[in-house]
Amino acid sequence: MLRGTLAAVQIRIGQGLDIHAFADDPSRPLVLAGVVIEGARGLAGHSDADAVIHACIDALLGAAGLGDIGMLYPDTDPGFAGVDSSELLADTMQRLTGAGWQVQNIDCTVVAEAPRLAPHRAAMQDNLARLVGAPVSVKATRAEGLGALGRVEGIMCTAVALISRDVEHDDQEN
Ligand code: MG
Repeated sequence: MLRGTLAAVQIRIGQGLDIHAFADDPSRPLVLAGVVIEGARGLAGHSDADAVIHACIDALLGAAGLGDIGMLYPDTDPGFAGVDSSELLADTMQRLTGAGWQVQNIDCTVVAEAPRLAPHRAAMQDNLARLVGAPVSVKATRAEGLGALGRVEGIMCTAVALISRDVEHDDQEN
């Protein structure tokens, strides 16, 4: 019984990484995992520069073999200027579900010297979980003063996603 159950499900893992420099524009908000972090310096980017969502998107696309964020949502496309990255993640989810995939979980690590993310962790996790329909954990760590991240020049995020689908979709595998 157990063997049959395992054989009926295809499981894939994917990883994503994104990094954005802090913006010079003091009016730009910091948006991480779709959560606006009040009073913090924003990140520079063509979209809202949400490095957490961007890492999640690349992890999901990588797991499903559906390309990457730069391919699907190019920063040369004026249509994506200032876009809410939650909308990009929603589109990514549509692509995955369209191919029969469902998300099992995502695990993220944000590397940031500042701001302190612990007070926002629950909101970030809840927002991502709502967007992908699965548990998401968001962990935060510091660069201990090393390199550009340690000099508080930007924020980086890594993400790992696990997805699954029934084997009848096997013929779509690429
Ligand atoms: Mg990005």
